[in-house]
Amino acid sequence: MPSIVQAASLAALLCISQSASAEPVRYINGHWFDGSAFTSRPEVVVSDGRIGGKAAGARTVDLRGGYVLAGLAEAHNHNLQNCYLAPQMAQAYLARGVLYSAQLFATDPALTQCEALFKGSKAPATAFARVGVTSSTGHPIGIARTGAKEAGMTLSFAELTAGMLVADTVADLQRDWPRFKATATDFVKVVLIDAVNSAANFKRAELDGYNGVTPEVLAALMPLARRDGLRVVAHVDTAEDFRLAVEAGVDTIAHLPGYRIDKNKTAGDYRLTDEMARAAAAQGTWVIPTMAASSYYVAAKPANAAAIGALYAHNLDLLRKNKVRLLSGSDRFEGSVLDEINALSSSGRFRPAELLAMASMQTPRWMYPQRRVGCLEAGCEASFNVYAGNPVNDLKHLAAPTLVVKDGAVVARDGKAVRQD
Ligand SMILES: [Zn+2]
Repeated sequence: MPSIVQAASLAALLCISQSASAEPVRYINGHWFDGSAFTSRPEVVVSDGRIGGKAAGARTVDLRGGYVLAGLAEAHNHNLQNCYLAPQMAQAYLARGVLYSAQLFATDPALTQCEALFKGSKAPATAFARVGVTSSTGHPIGIARTGAKEAGMTLSFAELTAGMLVADTVADLQRDWPRFKATATDFVKVVLIDAVNSAANFKRAELDGYNGVTPEVLAALMPLARRDGLRVVAHVDTAEDFRLAVEAGVDTIAHLPGYRIDKNKTAGDYRLTDEMARAAAAQGTWVIPTMAASSYYVAAKPANAAAIGALYAHNLDLLRKNKVRLLSGSDRFEGSVLDEINALSSSGRFRPAELLAMASMQTPRWMYPQRRVGCLEAGCEASFNVYAGNPVNDLKHLAAPTLVVKDGAVVARDGKAVRQD
């Protein structure tokens, strides 16, 4: 087949890829995930990119007892926010069966240059936070500054913050919001880092580039975002940041406190209280624990590994006891939701089936609440992965999907993205 494909003209290839998704397929002899277990379904028809349709005339694919899971979703990452890296990173996602991704600080104006990538079948369905709110001494300016320096560039403050909504005061926010509210975005991202001490932190030179907004700016942002129908995702650091974010009414909290312990803080500053978890549950706040991201800090400070593990155990137990809604996202550079599934599994607090439901059902539905995603029933978008072994018995099977189908078309086989062009 490769030689035929290589010899074909671009126009013919486009026909092949279009007919691949439109052509009805009967998947036989598969076990399909229902949210708690894989159950045998002798035949599932896929047509026009959706599950369901008539079996007559369909091509048959024998899954040979394989295990079918809806596409995995990465709720917190930044790998596709840069056009230089995005095409390769996107292929790596598809090869691993990651069919949905949320890029949570996609404010770089240059990102428009690779917009076409996200419209086709060469990238996961990607939701973006194209509006990012921080302060003039806030994260991620510090990372941008360091990155520029490493690349031998000196960027002005305006260049470093291009595309960001920089608000030190409520007046700044209200002045600039009209310019940003028209941005076509899936989320507004707001940064909180030790927000209760922000007045003092803003003056500390060593924190320049690593702060967030004040509690007042957060409180003023929420009614603006609500009025304009935008969902707000908060980056939080301390337990107090978590409390502030819930009180303000953000939709999603992008980290669970405890992925690091600042040198001026103690573990206690990152420990949630029962009241905080109860408030998040009552409000329906989503939380992305990003436990995988704590490994950066643990690698730098191995002596604190046990303290970080204990913080996650404590905070996850509180969230689970209160039934707070959790999402799967790793925030790992070059990583994916698979790292987060492994990290959460290693906490000993989740059954494999719960993690599979989180990553393949809850998280895509959070990303695209208007679409039929994260499901394998008739009418759902036909985006799913097939594994040779049962992931409920051993999550390690997730590392090697034998087949990845996106919108009805095969996009990866045996760990390799299938060329679409
Ligand atoms: Zn992040």
